[in-house]
Amino acid sequence: AAIGVSVSQVISKLIQLGIMASQNQELDFENAELIGMEFDKEIVLKSEDEESMEDIFDLDYEDKEEDMIPRPPVVTVMGHVDHGKTSLLDSIRNTHVTKKEAGGITQHIGAYTVRVNDNKIVFLDTPGHEAFTAMRSRGAQVTDLAILVVAADDGVMPQTIEAINHAKAADVPIIVAINKMDKEGANVDRIKQELSDNGLVPDDWGGDAICVPVSARTGQGIDELLEMVATVAEMEELKANPNRAAVGTVIEAQLDKGRGPTATVLVQKGTLRSGDMVVSGVSSGRIRAMFDDRGKKIKKAGPSIPVLILGLSDVPEAGEFIYVTKDEKTARSYAEKAKNLIKADMVKSSSNIKLDDLFNQISDGTIKDLNIIIKTDVRGTIDAVKQSFEKLSNEEVKVNIIHGAVGGITDSDVNLAAASNAVIIGFNVRPSQSAIDLANYENIDIRTYRVIYDAIEDIKNAIKGMLAPKY
Ligand code: GDP
Repeated sequence: AAIGVSVSQVISKLIQLGIMASQNQELDFENAELIGMEFDKEIVLKSEDEESMEDIFDLDYEDKEEDMIPRPPVVTVMGHVDHGKTSLLDSIRNTHVTKKEAGGITQHIGAYTVRVNDNKIVFLDTPGHEAFTAMRSRGAQVTDLAILVVAADDGVMPQTIEAINHAKAADVPIIVAINKMDKEGANVDRIKQELSDNGLVPDDWGGDAICVPVSARTGQGIDELLEMVATVAEMEELKANPNRAAVGTVIEAQLDKGRGPTATVLVQKGTLRSGDMVVSGVSSGRIRAMFDDRGKKIKKAGPSIPVLILGLSDVPEAGEFIYVTKDEKTARSYAEKAKNLIKADMVKSSSNIKLDDLFNQISDGTIKDLNIIIKTDVRGTIDAVKQSFEKLSNEEVKVNIIHGAVGGITDSDVNLAAASNAVIIGFNVRPSQSAIDLANYENIDIRTYRVIYDAIEDIKNAIKGMLAPKY
């Protein structure tokens, strides 16, 4: 069905061509080509080894516009430590889970659904941009919208800026929750000023950043915040086709003593059903039971709905895709393929940007943007570097500084680089050991310099394909 023609059409065509075939038989390339010609489609031969998981599962399978229906937004809460991310998530959960649905205990499965008027909103339960970007670096983009929490008595802090840049790099709209409004010293205007200074201009100041004053403690403003989320989500026109084999992402997973491997899955396309055969990375199995965020056993879940599933062979990884397959054999063989892919580490290492190879990547059209993360020892360097770097843009390649901050190079920087295909450049700062390890694993280019001039020369030369190799 990958060429948009039904199996029975193919079989009858084959019979016309004098080839006897049954449904599960593999076509050799010559016959496949013939069939392709018959249906006016070009068949491209792919070697098994080159196949990525995405190809196998036909992730790009285009859903027809008329099959797409609106789906709830998936929201991540981000912001500086202690600004109230967890409190806000708790407050929303406690006040907006309708009484009759609640039935007592809420289950922490990693995400939950709330109802606002007629709309559903799904919240991911792990706050912070670290989890968000770590998932993204594995290819999973589940978040549609970010709530940025800024404490009204504290203001914009380093992790606030990080969160802004991580959300922007992912092209996810941001709604600002100015939290702790119940506290003395809460000052909305000061926060708006600091947000403006960091590229988020409030809408009542002529920009497009929506800011809602709230208090996670008293509940003030929470309804308005949720209504804003629903409004912004509506403008995004989020849609999915519920009538296809389900594809989702594992949000979290663990080994439960009694129940074996469990995973929380956020369905992204299609409908996941109890009894479906699924595969996620090296883990596969038949869904034995499925629960919602209230702990209620359910039979099916459509797009954007988080569910806890039982029945997997192994604990899958958070951020992995999960797919429904037609039978057990297929699921197993895909899981086997995944094991081999991981061994070859093909999925990761091939596509990342490298200054050494930049010119080739530009020439063959693989990249059109050189995304850079800058870490420096002093604040003033960031703007100076940003301007000099961005001036190096030419017709072939655009140089973008996607994040700049003071401090050493951290795991979070490497994850952002992996998620956004960026290189990391440090001035008078070093990467932590764990950032070095992660960068090696993710195949991320980290370069450190003492003077701006040297870095500019390197990037200039890299763009021209004349960079001396790094030793
Ligand atoms: P996180 O690190 O961003 O998840 O922040 P927490 O949710 O853990 O909150 C940090 C501290 O701020 C806790 O002591 C909370 O009780 C407190 N806090 C959070 N929201 C509010 C609020 O709206 N008002 C007041 N007064 N305190 C709050």
